[in-house]
Amino acid sequence: MSEEQVDVLICGSGSAGLCAAVWLARFGINYKILERRDGPLKIGQADGVQTRTVEIFDSFGIGDDMLREAYHVLELAFWAQNIEGGNKDNIKRTRYAPDKETEISHQPHVILNQARLNELMISQLGSNPPIQYSTEVKGVEVDESVDITDLSSYPVKVDAVSADGTHKTYRAKYVLGCDGAHSIIRKSLGFKMLGDSTDAVWGVMDIYPLTNFPDIRKKAAINSSVGNLLIIPREGDHMVRFYIELPSGTMAKEVTLDDLQSHARKIFRPYEMEFADTFWWSAYAIGQRRADYFHKNHRVFLTGDACHTHSPKAGQGMNVSLQDGHNIGWKLGHILTGLGKPKPLLESYVIEREKTATELIEFDRGFTKLFNSKYREEHGISQEQFAEKFVQAGRYTAGQAVRYDKSGVVDVDEGKDKEVVRNVTVGMRFPTAQVVRFCDAKAMQLVKGLPADGQWYLVVFAGDVSVAEKKERLEKVSAALANVVNRFTPAGVSPDSVIDRVLVISGDRKKVEQEEIPDFFTPVTGKWKQKNLFKVYADDESYNSGHGHAYEAYGIDPAKGALVIVRPDHYVAKVSPLDDNLEQSTQKFFEGFLSPVA
Ligand SMILES: Cc1cc2nc3c(=O)[nH]c(=O)nc-3n(C[C@H](O)[C@H](O)[C@H](O)COP(=O)(O)OP(=O)(O)OC[C@H]3O[C@@H](n4cnc5c(N)ncnc54)[C@H](O)[C@@H]3O)c2cc1C
Repeated sequence: MSEEQVDVLICGSGSAGLCAAVWLARFGINYKILERRDGPLKIGQADGVQTRTVEIFDSFGIGDDMLREAYHVLELAFWAQNIEGGNKDNIKRTRYAPDKETEISHQPHVILNQARLNELMISQLGSNPPIQYSTEVKGVEVDESVDITDLSSYPVKVDAVSADGTHKTYRAKYVLGCDGAHSIIRKSLGFKMLGDSTDAVWGVMDIYPLTNFPDIRKKAAINSSVGNLLIIPREGDHMVRFYIELPSGTMAKEVTLDDLQSHARKIFRPYEMEFADTFWWSAYAIGQRRADYFHKNHRVFLTGDACHTHSPKAGQGMNVSLQDGHNIGWKLGHILTGLGKPKPLLESYVIEREKTATELIEFDRGFTKLFNSKYREEHGISQEQFAEKFVQAGRYTAGQAVRYDKSGVVDVDEGKDKEVVRNVTVGMRFPTAQVVRFCDAKAMQLVKGLPADGQWYLVVFAGDVSVAEKKERLEKVSAALANVVNRFTPAGVSPDSVIDRVLVISGDRKKVEQEEIPDFFTPVTGKWKQKNLFKVYADDESYNSGHGHAYEAYGIDPAKGALVIVRPDHYVAKVSPLDDNLEQSTQKFFEGFLSPVA
C-alpha cells in the first residue's frame, strides 16, 4: 500500500475543513484535504450566513463577492394562527421586527447557498487547491507515545480508499476530522455523540413559488394550526426556501416532495401556494448532540457537524462549523511555522470550541421548545412572546455571543478590563467603529485595517497626540511595544508579520504631522521597502461619512488611552492600560504561547 506524508490532513471539504484550509494556505503549511464526493458541493444544504461569518469572509478579503450575490435579511415577519378572527386554520401576520440590531455588527445577515460559500473559500487555496476528491477516509490511529511538543514526527495514520478501490495510508502531524455528522474520524476514535436520542425531522425545499402570500420575500416564521414553517428568501430574486418541521414520528427516508408541498399548502391557508418548480429538496433528521471529546492527544481534532449537531431553525450549523475551522486553522499555522507553542494553542481550541458547542446545544433546545406549539400552549407563551424571544435571540443567532474564557491565548482580568476599555469584552470578537485613515483621510471601519493574514494586532488608542504629554506617552508606549514585537519576530521576515500594530489617535488629526508618528507604527514593509502608512487612524470627523466617535463606541477615555491585543481571528485576547508595566505584561502574555527568537 502506498504512503504519503503531510503536515495537516483535513478529512472532509465542507464548511469546517475549507475554513481551516484557508488559514493553512495563508501560512504556507503543507496540507491536504481528502473528500469523498467527486467534486465540490454543487447545491443544497445550509444557506443562512450570520454577521460573524460575513465578518470572517470580509477579513479574508472575500466579503464583497458574498455581499453582492447574497439576499440581505433586513426584516422579520411573524405569522400565527388567526385565533380571534374566525377560522383557526388560517394564518395572520402578528408583527414585523428588524432582523438585526445595528450595534450587533456593521455587517448584514445574509443568505447565500453553502456551495457558493465553499467555492469562495476554495478560491483562497491557490491555483491548484490540494483537495483530493473521490477519496473516502476509512479510519484513523494515533501513536500516543509522541509528545505534544514533538513537531518532527508524523504520529497520526489515516487510511483512505479512492473511487477505483486503491488504498493509501497518510501519515500526518495533525488530522482534522471535518467529515460531517456521520464522521468516520469520530467513530474510529471511539468517541460518542451525547444528547437527545430522538431526532426531529425537517423538510427543506428550494422552490419557485406561485403565491399571493404578501411576505414571500421576507424572512418569516409561521406558526399555523398544522405546524411551523420558516421562509428564507434566496439570492437572485425568484427562489425561496421553506423549512418545514414535520410531525414527530416522521421518518426522513419516507418523506416525499409531495408531502412537503401539501403540508406547506395547508400551513399557508388562506393564501394560495403553488410551486412552479423545485430546485432542491431534502428531509433530514437532526438531534441535539455533541461529541464527548473534541480531540485525541491534541493530534486529531473534531470540527463542525462531526462534533455537534442541532436543528436548522436558528441557522447555526454551517456557521458554527465554519468557525470551528476558523479557530483551529491559525493555531496550527502558528505551530507548524515554528512561531507558536503547541500546548497552549491546541488546548485553547478544545476549551473554546467545546464551550461554544455546549452553549449552542443549550440554545437550540430552548429555541426548539419555542417553536413547539404544544410547549407554547402548556407554558402560556403567546404569539407576541414568541416573536419577542425570537428577536432577543438575535445576538446569539448572529454569532456574536461567543465569549471565550481565560486560557493560554485569552487573558481575562474581570475586575480591571472594563476600567480600561468599557465596551470591549476580552474573549469576544473585537468590535469595529468608523475611523479616518491618517495618511489619506479615508473614512473606514477600523477592522478593515486588521486583515486576517495570520498576524496578531496591538491596537493602541493613544488619545490626542497633538498634546505634548500624550505625544510623549505614545513615544514611550511605542518603544515598549517595539521591544516586545522584536522578541517574537524572526530575522528576515516582515516586521509586521507576527505581531502587527495599529494606532488610533483622537482629536483633530490636522494638528498632527506624519513625522510625529513613531516609526513603530510606520514599519518598512513590502517589495519596495516603503514606510507602511496604513496602520494609523484618527477618531475624527471625515469628509463625507460623518464622525465615528470610536473612543466613545469602545468606551476608552482619550486621556488614559488603552492597548487592545487582538488575535488573528479577531477575538480580543487582552486589554491593558498604557502604564509603566505595559512592556512586561505584554511580553509575559505573548511568551505564554509564542516562541521567542533566539
Ligand atoms: C443533506 C443536508 C442538508 C442540510 N440542510 C441544512 C439546512 O437546510 N440548513 C442548515 O442550517 N444546515 C443544513 N445542513 C447542515 C449544514 O450543512 C452543516 O451543519 C454544515 O455543512 C456542517 O459543516 P461541516 O464542515 O461540519 O460538514 P459538511 O459540510 O457536512 O462537510 C463534511 C464533508 O466531509 C465529507 N465526508 C464525509 N465523510 C467522509 C469520509 N469518510 N471521507 C472523506 N470525506 C468525507 C462530506 O462529503 C462533506 O463534504 C444540512 C446538512 C445536510 C447533510
